[in-house]
Amino acid sequence: MSLTFSVGDLTIHRVIEQEAPFFAALEFLPGLTPEVLAENRAWMKQAKALDDNDVLMLCFQSYVVKTPHHTILIDSCVGNDKPRPQRPAWHMKTDDTYLRALGDAGVSVDDIDFVMCTHLHVDHVGWNTWLENGRWVPTFPKARYLFARQEFDYWSEQNAKAPVPPFVDSVLPVVEAKRHELVSNDHQIGDHVRILPTPGHTPGHVAFTFGRGKDDAVFSGDLMHSPLQTLYPELSIKFDVDQAQAAKTRRSFLERYCDTDTLCCTAHFPSPSSGKIRRKGNAFVCAAV
Ligand SMILES: [Zn+2]
Repeated sequence: MSLTFSVGDLTIHRVIEQEAPFFAALEFLPGLTPEVLAENRAWMKQAKALDDNDVLMLCFQSYVVKTPHHTILIDSCVGNDKPRPQRPAWHMKTDDTYLRALGDAGVSVDDIDFVMCTHLHVDHVGWNTWLENGRWVPTFPKARYLFARQEFDYWSEQNAKAPVPPFVDSVLPVVEAKRHELVSNDHQIGDHVRILPTPGHTPGHVAFTFGRGKDDAVFSGDLMHSPLQTLYPELSIKFDVDQAQAAKTRRSFLERYCDTDTLCCTAHFPSPSSGKIRRKGNAFVCAAV
């Protein structure tokens, strides 16, 4: 399996932390009926998007993108040593999978110029920080960490009501270290990196588009989690903060990139996790390249 893609003048590396059966399909997608699942079971199993127990396979990964000017890490997965008692596979884990995968991509923590989070959920901010002498400090010491202002403000408010552990241990220490930038949706990095607002999963969720003059690649974060949602864009997941808005965002995103050359790099689709959006009937597929 190739973990590297080249598009335009970009090189994209996948850095995988975990890939496993994770959520029961019928529970994760409240709008999914047993009948629709049955109609789609065969191809989903073949694509390794569904296991024998109707549990959806999810990948948890970062993307490292090298532009002619910068090395950028998109989303930072789960992290180590973090108390996540509700998720045994993530709770206080100490494996070296992620850092080894980063090394396999040919980069060290010192090489990252920017860390960009599509949103601030637990599985997208974890490696923002690691433990040093008992304190959470930025894992990527030379990086500027870009957070969408609207997303940051939303989680600040939530955290003020009741502590949100991933915000406390994986976002606020970056702010304390003054390595962060709160950016609005018109923010760009050079002529290669832009923000595409994609609200619904969270209020300030964004996708990132890369490429000079055109979108050679787009990183879609959590605006969809399973290839089933390209065929049924109306299916939102139970964790989408606004399920109706998420469905609308999903369809307009798929329509925007349908039948273009843009490589769509999803956060959670099973490997290869990326492809080109193609029309199928009144919906879409993400076709591997
Ligand atoms: Zn996620």
